[in-house]
Amino acid sequence: MRRISDLATATDPVLYCRSHSHAWYHTKDTDLVWHRAVLVSFMHYESCVRCNASRRRRVELSRSVIGRASIQYPDGYLAAKGHHFSRLDAFTELYARAYARATSRPKTRENK
Ligand SMILES: [Zn+2]
Repeated sequence: MRRISDLATATDPVLYCRSHSHAWYHTKDTDLVWHRAVLVSFMHYESCVRCNASRRRRVELSRSVIGRASIQYPDGYLAAKGHHFSRLDAFTELYARAYARATSRPKTRENK
């Protein structure tokens, strides 16, 4: 798995998820456990529409408990050893890029 040591190498979706949190959507449920025709627990799976991270967690309806999520991150999401990026770091990089795009001159035949 590729890890990043500089946010400048992160993709826009990764920066957006690091600054705004993931956009989860439900993909499937497995391991359904029934007791006397009542669903008591199952494994719930979701994926992020932006960065393709995925997570799963056990839902225990009979005990009103949603288990801790196990998350799989895509290449280029996690920080390399010895590096840490805060939510604010990701915001800063994301908006620096947006500003650079907004203020760059469009390509024309003259300035290619
Ligand atoms: Zn995401």
